[in-house]
Amino acid sequence: MTADRRFDVTRGPALRCRGWRQEGLLRLLENVLAVGERPQDLVVYAALGKAARDWPSHDRIVSTLRTMEEGQTLVVQSGKPIGLMRTHAQAPLVLMANCNLVGQWARAENFYALEKAGLICWGGLTAGDWQYIGSQGVIQGTYEIFARIAERHFGGSLAGRWILTAGLGGMGGAQPLAACMAGASILCVEVDGERIDKRIAAGYLQQRAPDLEAALAMIRAAQEARQALSVGLQANAADVYPELVERGLVPDIVTDQTSAHDLLYGYIPREFSLAQVRELRAGDPQRLMAASTASIVRHVGAMLAFQRAGAVVFDNGNLIRTQAKAGGVADAFDIPIFTEAFLRPLFARAIGPFRWIALSGDPMDIERIDRHLLEHFGHNASIVNWIGLARRHIRFEGLPARIAWMGHGERTALALAVNRMVADGSLRAPVAFTRDHLDAGAMAHPNIMTERMRDGSDAVADWPLLNAMLNCSSQADLVAIHSGGGGYSGYMTSAGVTLVADGTPRAEQRLQLTLDNDTSLGVMRYADAGYAEALDEVERRGLDHFTL
Ligand code: NAD
Repeated sequence: MTADRRFDVTRGPALRCRGWRQEGLLRLLENVLAVGERPQDLVVYAALGKAARDWPSHDRIVSTLRTMEEGQTLVVQSGKPIGLMRTHAQAPLVLMANCNLVGQWARAENFYALEKAGLICWGGLTAGDWQYIGSQGVIQGTYEIFARIAERHFGGSLAGRWILTAGLGGMGGAQPLAACMAGASILCVEVDGERIDKRIAAGYLQQRAPDLEAALAMIRAAQEARQALSVGLQANAADVYPELVERGLVPDIVTDQTSAHDLLYGYIPREFSLAQVRELRAGDPQRLMAASTASIVRHVGAMLAFQRAGAVVFDNGNLIRTQAKAGGVADAFDIPIFTEAFLRPLFARAIGPFRWIALSGDPMDIERIDRHLLEHFGHNASIVNWIGLARRHIRFEGLPARIAWMGHGERTALALAVNRMVADGSLRAPVAFTRDHLDAGAMAHPNIMTERMRDGSDAVADWPLLNAMLNCSSQADLVAIHSGGGGYSGYMTSAGVTLVADGTPRAEQRLQLTLDNDTSLGVMRYADAGYAEALDEVERRGLDHFTL
């Protein structure tokens, strides 16, 4: 069924749909597959994060987007289009609920059974709602973490320092480039050689080492020269990390971005080949999951040993500590989570990963928006610094896109300016705006985003639900509510939103309302939890937040 499919994105000014809002969403769907990890299986990233339930669902979504009018809303349930509703011209065009199971049922084994029965699929964060833009999507987040570590632990510079990590998948692939942008050397352990080649081809990874000795020699030479370098090594992290501990080698920074959240479809246990793992998934899933847990126990045991030896160690959002703890590593949570350790002060001001995608497919459109930002956001050193770095280092995958961590008011100001640029013809076609689900008001994830919230509200999932309802009321083009699938089942709920700036006054209204309200709720979520930065932001921006 997939042999004759091509995973290309349509570019240029010609419309196949009845308007740019529909066309924009269709191009985004094409884009997540074009830059995804296994498009033939509809898998975009994170082992199982899918763009649609199955090919018939995908094809029906595509044909509907091509024919639907404004005033109609397509309803999608876990990647399957359910029907077209009559709404009104300013209503969202697409509404989605992906992978939401009721509390007591939200466990991995129930998810796998429902998925096998064709009743559900997981949308990841940005896969199911067509917002993924390749490894670039998390690159600034990863860069900001390294920059914070540099400030806090290494006198502001990572020159001459080295980072150990694992996993070069859809999201993990951002790590080598982010590390180099921050001036460090990085060794990335990846069990699948094809993933290493893919990151080299995409310009995210520089070198591939033939073995551990060669990899360490390359890292040592780069350290001595105080040069940034990224090296990929095909090996299993559960072998390499303990081996380095054994040798008494201590990296400056250690993390991991294997798909440890999923013991069956994500993590690859040591002493198993990729082919054996594929067979065991169907033949003996219990054995495979037990082997994954045993490897994660070794893997996290080594991370803790690095921490005791003085390395800065952190969990990069893949549930590896949770899996290790379940496997018996009592002190797994001595490793901090990146959000709480490094990024919470930004989220408390609703500064988070905002993205825009040139629907024209023309890199010049992104270049013009970059120039606009450099001219008009000069007061914000972090945005100017980031745009400079991104322009120098990031090669586009799929539709040209940009990510920048921006906050309340800033996102709206940029989007409205872009809408004007579309209207006056400075850009070749409309531009889509979206953001990661890992955003201030949009995610409850007690082992990642909301771990150790000040007021103990870690597991309260009202916030992403409110976020989605608010974005519908604010006339966003696409709104989605996701909960965790696979190994993330029962661990998270989040909301996604997308808008198309098509240059019209109606788009101006949609952008203004949605982007203002999206970040307002983010600030209020943290203000409600008592964060000083959020309370300050409420004051500075004049937000109508109630203090009870
Ligand atoms: P992916 O499935 O595309 O890639 C995971 C990679 O890890 C694969 O290439 C796989 O071969 C490799 N791998 C698995 N086990 C290994 C082992 N034992 N040793 C070495 N390599 C191994 O996943 P992804 O999209 O890159 O995401 C990785 C993880 O990060 C997921 O758990 C995801 O949910 C999480 N994530 C975190 C953030 C964040 O904000 N920090 C964002 C997105 C994803």
